[in-house]
Amino acid sequence: MLEKIIMARHHGFCWGVKRAIQTARETARNRTGPVTILNEIVHNEAVVESFRRQGIGQEFSVEAVESGTLIISAHGVAPHIKMAAKARGLHLVDATCPLVKNVHNIIEKYADAGYDTVIVGDKGHAEVTGLLGCCRGKGHVAAGPGEAQSLPHFEKVNVVAQTTQEERVFNETAEKIKSKAKECVISNTICNPTRERQAETAETAKSSDLMIVVGARHSANTARLVQLCRELGADTIHVESEEELEPQRVIHQRKIGVTAGASTPGWMIERVVDRLKQIRGAAQAAGLPSLSAVWEFMTNICVYTFAAAVSLTYVCMKLQGCWIDSRILLLSGLFVMSLHIINRLAERGMGTAGRGKTALFRHHRTALALTGILTGVSAIALSATFGAKVFAVVVFFWILGVLYPFRLMLGLKQLMGFPASKDTATALGWGFVCAYIPGLSQGMTFTKANYLALVFAILLVFMRSVMLGISAVQSDLIVG
Ligand code: SF4
Repeated sequence: MLEKIIMARHHGFCWGVKRAIQTARETARNRTGPVTILNEIVHNEAVVESFRRQGIGQEFSVEAVESGTLIISAHGVAPHIKMAAKARGLHLVDATCPLVKNVHNIIEKYADAGYDTVIVGDKGHAEVTGLLGCCRGKGHVAAGPGEAQSLPHFEKVNVVAQTTQEERVFNETAEKIKSKAKECVISNTICNPTRERQAETAETAKSSDLMIVVGARHSANTARLVQLCRELGADTIHVESEEELEPQRVIHQRKIGVTAGASTPGWMIERVVDRLKQIRGAAQAAGLPSLSAVWEFMTNICVYTFAAAVSLTYVCMKLQGCWIDSRILLLSGLFVMSLHIINRLAERGMGTAGRGKTALFRHHRTALALTGILTGVSAIALSATFGAKVFAVVVFFWILGVLYPFRLMLGLKQLMGFPASKDTATALGWGFVCAYIPGLSQGMTFTKANYLALVFAILLVFMRSVMLGISAVQSDLIVG
């Protein structure tokens, strides 16, 4: 039975990532005209999505950016990319981590003196692509000692590391290259935050029965932590969010260590730890691990959302002076619950709410889809008992809600792609069902009380939605 959760001391964004995010936010706030980030600001979908929601564009090539401000991500870019951006008349804001810039300088210094460069890192990774661009055409990439074997012999070579490289891999690779060169300079450019995390992860892995590494699957530093734990013989799982945690996988481990890559927001790690505590609590309360699966399903079908919608409707009915009709309370709960489940499933299916197949997605997808449809149909059936007007309005808004995740595919980018559009749509949906429908069902629309309840519900839900987004994503920057 799970007894102890050991959380890494160094978790959340490294200072280089925090600096890049802060720079991007300030730029978006102070600039007029379009603001675009080149590549992903950090390799984390939740952070990237939060920027999209603020109306900050993202492109993977300078040629795709027509005008405005271009922000260089923490990974940096090759000098010719910056020149191309300037030649296009773009205003450049460089959020490259100073520690990455330092590697650029080291490479350029030796490349100008005629040295070849070998970068020990991942070919195709944004940082490595930027470093390659500083090598004056004499750059090579080796992921490890195996790949170093197939490199040519060098007269003079400078060996550098991708900043998030694993110490052991770098040292072994550098030694291999040294044996093939007349003159070899070894520049260990692994950054300090990476070193600290790796040392602490190794320490935690040794004293844990299971290691959980939190972070994006395409994040190099997260992947290295997973590799490091496995090399140390630790039973390790890599998750992108708390939803991927399977109770049966964790409940029988006594000590669980939790760590995360430098591009993983602190709130994401905290959610994983909270989920572990929740699983432990459910198992302790139930005494039977199988009941934790029931608890998980109950959470996934958004029973709390149902309860919240019922409560808000109750308050809105009181505000309007309506008599409390339990059918209306049930209708609003079912309506909101249905759209919540369907939207979550649709977003996961499209990969906009976290990459990868979550445990939720894998195991309960069909059951959740059925629950979403059944609750929706029940809400519509209930609405029919209030007459044609309520029925037509409920059907119309339910279809609108179901189609919302597909708005971009439906060509509604301009209409629905403005900043905080999701928060606005959510607030309008809740306001409509919790305040407008009760009034409509009792012939009390377009009254002062009806408007008051509508504004109250919309503002409350909008603030909650925005605050959750801000506090979640910016808690690392101590803004939330
Ligand atoms: Fe900078 Fe290191 Fe963080 Fe990369 S991992 S952004 S190099 S501090």
